[in-house]
Amino acid sequence: MFSLPKLLTLALIIVAVLAAFRLIGSVNRVRAENRRRTSAEEDTRQLESEDLEKCTVCGIFVARACDRSDCPRR
Ligand SMILES: [Zn+2]
Repeated sequence: MFSLPKLLTLALIIVAVLAAFRLIGSVNRVRAENRRRTSAEEDTRQLESEDLEKCTVCGIFVARACDRSDCPRR
């Protein structure tokens, strides 16, 4: 019933399936790594953004100084 050629073919199929699973796993790992790196870059970009503060003269929220010449933030 179990001849040597059949067993060899079965072993070959098992090895091929295991290799395919390993390939899929490594592709998924690379994708997850890229996704993690992208989200980390986005976090850094958010940290580099400036906080807006309210100008006491004109009342608008600005990062540095508004257009008025008497702006206290200038
Ligand atoms: Zn101002």
